[in-house]
Amino acid sequence: MRLGIYPGTFDPVTNGHLDILKRASKLFDKIIIGVAVDSDKKTLFDIDHRVEFMKDAVKDISNIEVEAFSGLLMHFTESKGAKIIIRGLRAVSDFEYEFQLALMNKNLNDSVETMFLTTSSEYTFLSSTIIKSVVKLNGEIKGLVPEKVEIALKDIYKKGD
Ligand code: ADP
Repeated sequence: MRLGIYPGTFDPVTNGHLDILKRASKLFDKIIIGVAVDSDKKTLFDIDHRVEFMKDAVKDISNIEVEAFSGLLMHFTESKGAKIIIRGLRAVSDFEYEFQLALMNKNLNDSVETMFLTTSSEYTFLSSTIIKSVVKLNGEIKGLVPEKVEIALKDIYKKGD
């Protein structure tokens, strides 16, 4: 069985992540989305919310599962018996970090490969960070994130949290 791990912080999930997932789901028998508990980034949403939003967003894709993981991505990947880590590439700016990550993971376990899918052109500018910045300043994010995420984000910033 071709099993892929799609890891990330997903704070929150955007339609850019979903674009990668929809396309990857056709290439793999099964994909496990690993939502990172331990992130270098300070997250807006706690792990339960990040998992819940992702589960809801992919509920109609039958070969995708969502799980939280803590600790090292490679340990999570090994525990699932997966041999492929899927990552999305937006622009040249992603390249250096993603390249470094892929090489470090290769160093940790040589039998696991990182596979990159390039984003569809309409989502190249999209990141969880820019979404949060725009909502904070009352900008419109319709069509860029799942509806439940949009409602939750607007709710947080409306309250001024
Ligand atoms: P991380 O904190 O691990 O970078 P993210 O949640 O920011 O996690 O992103 C997870 C993966 O999705 C990364 O490989 C990232 O490059 C990719 N990604 C993020 N936004 C997009 C997008 N708009 N289009 C395609 N891939 C994306």
